[in-house]
Amino acid sequence: MREARTTCPYCGVGCGVVASVEKSEIVDVQGDPQHPANFGRLCVKGSALHETLGHGGRLTRPIVDGVESDWDTALDAVASRLRAVRDALGPEALAAYLSGQLLTEDYYVANKLFKGFLGTPHLDTNSRLCMASAVAAHKRAFGADAVPCCYEDLEEAELVVLVGSNLAWNHPVLYQRLKVAKQRNPLLRVVVIDPRVTDTCELADLYLGLKPGSDARLFTGLLAWMAARNKLDRVYLEAHTQGFEEALAAAQEQDAGVEAIAADCDLDAERLETFFYWFASHLHVVTLFSQGVNQSTSGTDKGNAIINCHLAGGKIGLPGAGPFSITGQPNAMGGREVGGLANQLAAHMDYDTPGARDRVTRFWATERLVPCLPEGPGHKAVALFEAIERGEVQALWIMATNPAVSLPRTDRVRAALAKCPLVIVSDCMANADLLAYADIVLPASSWSEKDGTVTNSERRISRQRGILPPPGEARHDWWALCEVAKRLGFGEAFGYTHPSEIFDEHARLSGFENGEGPDEWRRLFDISGLAGLDRAAYDALEPIQWPVNAAAPRGTARLFIDGRFATPDGLARMVAVRSRPPAQALDAARPLRLNTGRVRDQWHTMTRTARSPRLMNHRAEPFIEIAPEDAAALGVEEQGLACLQGAGGRYVGRVRVSRGQRRGEVFVPMHWNGYFSGSALSGALIDAHVDPVSGQPESKHGAVALDPL
Ligand code: SF4
Repeated sequence: MREARTTCPYCGVGCGVVASVEKSEIVDVQGDPQHPANFGRLCVKGSALHETLGHGGRLTRPIVDGVESDWDTALDAVASRLRAVRDALGPEALAAYLSGQLLTEDYYVANKLFKGFLGTPHLDTNSRLCMASAVAAHKRAFGADAVPCCYEDLEEAELVVLVGSNLAWNHPVLYQRLKVAKQRNPLLRVVVIDPRVTDTCELADLYLGLKPGSDARLFTGLLAWMAARNKLDRVYLEAHTQGFEEALAAAQEQDAGVEAIAADCDLDAERLETFFYWFASHLHVVTLFSQGVNQSTSGTDKGNAIINCHLAGGKIGLPGAGPFSITGQPNAMGGREVGGLANQLAAHMDYDTPGARDRVTRFWATERLVPCLPEGPGHKAVALFEAIERGEVQALWIMATNPAVSLPRTDRVRAALAKCPLVIVSDCMANADLLAYADIVLPASSWSEKDGTVTNSERRISRQRGILPPPGEARHDWWALCEVAKRLGFGEAFGYTHPSEIFDEHARLSGFENGEGPDEWRRLFDISGLAGLDRAAYDALEPIQWPVNAAAPRGTARLFIDGRFATPDGLARMVAVRSRPPAQALDAARPLRLNTGRVRDQWHTMTRTARSPRLMNHRAEPFIEIAPEDAAALGVEEQGLACLQGAGGRYVGRVRVSRGQRRGEVFVPMHWNGYFSGSALSGALIDAHVDPVSGQPESKHGAVALDPL
């Protein structure tokens, strides 16, 4: 028996795992006591990792046009068909759709190939569905997409506010840390702001079950309340921010009285004012926000409304203080680091970052390529599939994600995939219903086989280690990308033989001639302190938080501690936020507000977690959660079957009557896919409205009708 240290592949907490390996099998997993994200803890999903392995159901050979094939044939086909589409229609007819499940090294190579060498800007990721609004809010406020906090801040805080986050189910180890912190410090208060009463509410000293979509009204109201009660930190505002007057004026456009705000949010005014008072009277406040804030057509504004309140009170850049976006996926952050969003170029640089195009062109040595680096941003996820629907994009490479399940209007996504002339899918599992749309299928290695890095919600880079060989002919994604690049004539730039070489290049690019742009910006994303690691040093890399450079060789726990932000003048920007309702309006045909989310023991489309009977026991089938009053009025009962009708389809699920559900609203899980239940696709219910700034879809605010079955 041997032990191997690695990182859990599920949520953005990024827990360290110690795997016990016997012969060629992982027989047990434990939390890594040395990993600073979890200090030995694991949740039920993490502790069942070894139950989800095994070669059954894995893709083990490439498939070309429905026929099992070999790698040479498949790679030749990928390269020649990509080239044919590009030659006929130009680079913008090519696209890639990636995933927060990919390792940073896979992401880096994909971004370099598609943007740098194939010259298309259309490379986006399923992280668009997860935290794109938080990214945009960070950029607007701080001048850069940078999370200021670390997990320790939850333990250092006097007040923790959870907004749109069921931490107990979706980031369970962070919930455990918060629970222990509260036991150790009875003065630590927790406020939960969420339309649903979830398990997270067990920790709450105060629960605010607000009307869905009214978060911005609540936080603009808080800003106005702080101003009216003289609870602002005028010294901090003066020294470190810009735009306060405009932000306050916008907040005061609506009635700023507590009664009026409470009425708009459908809250009890006394409880709301208690929250306002708690927030305003503590300096060490962490506001942890997640998909309940982000998955909205005003998600970016909601994020900025939260950040505004922190800036106005000087509650940032201190231990136990700051707005803290928690990512859903294990490597949503790592994808952002290498440019995995369509609005990014590379290495955290946007297209409009001063000097970015020139810097990347010289680093990748793409000067002589025609086409060369794109001039501007590409299609974000929802728009990308609309471009496929219109026939503008005709070749798509999908890696480690299933847009036919997770995007809104899955009916339209499936139709777009069906008409797309070239769909390449890199996946681990043979049962993914996405494969039905693939012209070429590439079998990918999976967790415990892949070797690389991931970055968690607190900017901590950790190693995922290859412990077992991939089954059959499954291969690493970075390898498949490099082999295609070689066949396209780019071999010199894609000659990596090990992920450590890719990581080294990524680290060097982060610090490459970054002489332009604001000082803080240049320092912030610089991980050049991790460049030059040889294989042994890369393998032994301990978890570390970026930036990592000459000024911070041991990494950086908190950002903005000196009050300087990544804007040209170093001042944070307060954003004028005006609350607006969800875009998916309720009407007589679809009178119920739909909320979607995860359940505790499943992950995404269940390709892995459904393999564990223990995990399936928690929620064995798709369900619809509904308030008792609505259940009675609509004639459905606990454990009965019901059908939801939404924008693009039906969803059939078992009824769960819950007092934690607000009247007029229903909740469904997002996990079930066509393989497990073709009639329970939550994405089919959601219309494809997106946040105008971030492009994130409004997955929390659907409009549906319910019928008993
Ligand atoms: Fe894995 Fe997240 Fe659970 Fe940690 S909290 S063990 S990262 S699923």
